[in-house]
Amino acid sequence: MKIHDLIVIGAGPAGSSAARKGAELGLNVLVIDKESFPRDKPCGGGLSAAAYKELGEDLPEHLIEQKCYGMRSVYRNQIHLIESETPVAYMIRRIHFDNYLLEQALSQGAVFSQETCRAVRETSGLVEIETDKGTHYSRYCIGADGFFSPTAKSVRDPFSKAETRFCLISHPADNGHPIRQSEKPVVELDFGFIRKGYGWLFPKGEFISAGIGGEAASAKELRHVYKAFLASHNLDQAEKPQGCFIPVSNLKHELATGRIMLAGDAAGLVDSFSGEGIRNALISGRLAAEKATEAKSRDGAVQGYKSSLLKKIGNNLIWSERMTRVSSRFESLVYGRLLADERVMKRYFEILRGDRSYRSFFLMTMLELPLIILSVSIKKTGMLNRTR
Ligand SMILES: Cc1cc2nc3c(=O)[nH]c(=O)nc-3n(C[C@H](O)[C@H](O)[C@H](O)COP(=O)(O)OP(=O)(O)OC[C@H]3O[C@@H](n4cnc5c(N)ncnc54)[C@H](O)[C@@H]3O)c2cc1C
Repeated sequence: MKIHDLIVIGAGPAGSSAARKGAELGLNVLVIDKESFPRDKPCGGGLSAAAYKELGEDLPEHLIEQKCYGMRSVYRNQIHLIESETPVAYMIRRIHFDNYLLEQALSQGAVFSQETCRAVRETSGLVEIETDKGTHYSRYCIGADGFFSPTAKSVRDPFSKAETRFCLISHPADNGHPIRQSEKPVVELDFGFIRKGYGWLFPKGEFISAGIGGEAASAKELRHVYKAFLASHNLDQAEKPQGCFIPVSNLKHELATGRIMLAGDAAGLVDSFSGEGIRNALISGRLAAEKATEAKSRDGAVQGYKSSLLKKIGNNLIWSERMTRVSSRFESLVYGRLLADERVMKRYFEILRGDRSYRSFFLMTMLELPLIILSVSIKKTGMLNRTR
């Protein structure tokens, strides 16, 4: 019976970063995925500048569809364009990006097998992984198998509706939308369509990634909202949108038991305010592999995975959830005023670059709120007077 040091289930960003790190640290790693690669995955494909840094090295240029230098925001009839000197996000296509990450892991010595995992259980110091092709054994296992993670069944409770968002996405042809008309392309976010969510337009090669995401409870309503969103941008509605769930459970669940850990969406690590999941998938995958290596050195159970993850990303997840609540409670204040303020938006770009925490953004913006409201009101009154 062959015993691997580490089996990683799922070869998305969390799984491939775990497999790569594990192999780099000298573990004998098998990574399995139910799909053959390259495979696509419904996703906006927006890599924040902070997520890009997490890769630890530059992506080959051909993988970057577009660098985005700021944000065009829409709230009701207000449109604001705030630009940035340096990129705030890099647009990639998951089919190529995920394949590249997997190749990086394989180049470090990890081995890939296309299999569907059915169950994971721990028995006498080993993890037994049952797939459609047989049974594997390993000392440690990382479940990086996404929202519906079979591995998670042996570690945590299912995500509740409140811990879940629902997204719809399609890829209409570019119709000359303003996101690409400025010298430097930007991302667009549209607010006010849906509670605890937004619509996005991301510029890709010849098409636009157009999506909308909000509370899972409003999934039915979202289909109508999505139509209205596309129509408001004169975007083609021929392609049937794909619907997907994303988990924003905020480290409330168990993330490890004995020799099994969860990473990425399987662990529920999507940022509730931005909907960004790739960054935390990369961070958690890598950390889980480090914990497996450390546990192997003493041939024991994994220790301190969740507390280390809390230290790295917990604060940001907690404050991002607070921002989501505040934004949905005081929608017109947040979207009507803050999106218009260049200083606030540039500070938000610092979060996207990983140079500022949500907490510091939130507290500074709260302190300045009276001034911001005043200056935006003065600007609006000025504009009104000029149009009279
Ligand atoms: C519509 C939409 C838009 C998004 N846009 C963005 C964005 O622009 N930027 C961003 O940062 N995040 C975005 N996200 C979130 C992001 O896609 C996820 O957070 C990210 O993919 C998580 O990576 P992961 O590796 O944990 O899981 P995944 O990327 O989901 O990978 C899981 C892997 O596990 C495999 N798997 C599943 N079940 C099994 C099984 N039983 N056996 C074997 N293999 C299995 C799957 O085939 C898959 O390859 C978006 C999500 C959605 C739904």
